[in-house]
Amino acid sequence: MSTMANIKKNDTVRVITGKDKGKAGKVLRVLAKDEKVIVENVNVYKKHQKQGPNREAGIVDKAMPIHLSNVQAVCPKCSEATSFRRKALSDGKRVRFCRKCGETIE
Ligand SMILES: [Zn+2]
Repeated sequence: MSTMANIKKNDTVRVITGKDKGKAGKVLRVLAKDEKVIVENVNVYKKHQKQGPNREAGIVDKAMPIHLSNVQAVCPKCSEATSFRRKALSDGKRVRFCRKCGETIE
């Protein structure tokens, strides 16, 4: 299993390259097929929005997908930029854990 599969929605990630290098944000969506993620406040572009039933027409900020190779997971336990691995517990349940501190990640 590749590293990318270990990043999930609501994880915090940090951008390691590109125009938003150093920014961190919450993963809003994982696009597994494209190996991309949409991260809150990262890779934001102005988009023209058409008027809809619950929204005004105008220009809105929209976070665009970025490739998983451009981000690193931030561990909620040790706050280090890291990557998550998976392991099987004794009961067979598979969990993620931090490579740096070893803590289990929800
Ligand atoms: Zn950690």
